[in-house]
Amino acid sequence: MRIAQTKTDLREALEELNRPIGLVPTMGNLHQGHLDLMQWSTRKTASTIATIFVNPLQFSPTEDFSSYPRMLAEDAKKLESNGVDLLFAPSDEEMYPHGKETHTNVTVPEITATLCGQSRPTHFAGVTTVVTKLFHLCQPDMAFFGEKDWQQLAVIKRMTQELDFPLEIEGVPTTRHSDGLAMSSRNQYLSEEERQIAPKLFETLRHLANKCFTLNVDFRELETAGAKQLEDLGFRPDYVAIRDENTLQPTTKFTHDLRVFGAAYLGKARLIDNVSVNLGD
Ligand code: AMP
Repeated sequence: MRIAQTKTDLREALEELNRPIGLVPTMGNLHQGHLDLMQWSTRKTASTIATIFVNPLQFSPTEDFSSYPRMLAEDAKKLESNGVDLLFAPSDEEMYPHGKETHTNVTVPEITATLCGQSRPTHFAGVTTVVTKLFHLCQPDMAFFGEKDWQQLAVIKRMTQELDFPLEIEGVPTTRHSDGLAMSSRNQYLSEEERQIAPKLFETLRHLANKCFTLNVDFRELETAGAKQLEDLGFRPDYVAIRDENTLQPTTKFTHDLRVFGAAYLGKARLIDNVSVNLGD
């Protein structure tokens, strides 16, 4: 596996890759969820590029940018043994040579204003800006994103379509621990006691998803009950929301495309998850 840390090295390394090229953007501190994305890409494409970049633009000043775990050497070994051909791991200066404050921004309206966008108002602009740069730099034919971050996946699909990027976006199912907790780099912020509580976020969302089948059910009442349940379990809920999984807008009707979304703080960690309400499952 080749490692490029500058755009010049990346451009050179790209010439040696066979198409189709798959891209998997990450912030490193890799767990099995990330590696499943790599395997998805290596199965579907001829060459896979992974990127590791802790993107300062997508963190607010009160978030964990400076303490976010960085372990490039370990991550590189994992990527190599999972069939990745090229790792692009640039510095902040390489990505934002004129500083991050005045950098050109790519923003996607509406779909970014809800759910996580409400409590993290600058987050998605940071994501879409860096992903735009990575698409231009790596020129992939396909890019792979986790369904755990469903809103991020929806935002990137929208951006790719509306800005005519010539590539396909594929969502990859969430990889979970055996107790149901979605794997996440931020799970390591949990104390032992919090780690026992954490899987209850997924349980609560699954319970709500089943309740959606009840005749004449009121989704808004279910959301309130779900948030209360999380609070009783020891979480500080940010939101519990039953939404159309494509538009992310609230709906009152039962359709094939409903999804239950949840975000909640547990100690220092902000956990997110989502569950499909699959009609016919
Ligand atoms: P991150 O390093 O947290 O920015 O994540 C990089 C990519 O990995 C994103 O597309 C995430 O949605 C995806 N990802 C993170 N955790 C999981 C998981 N448990 N299962 C599947 N994909 C994941």
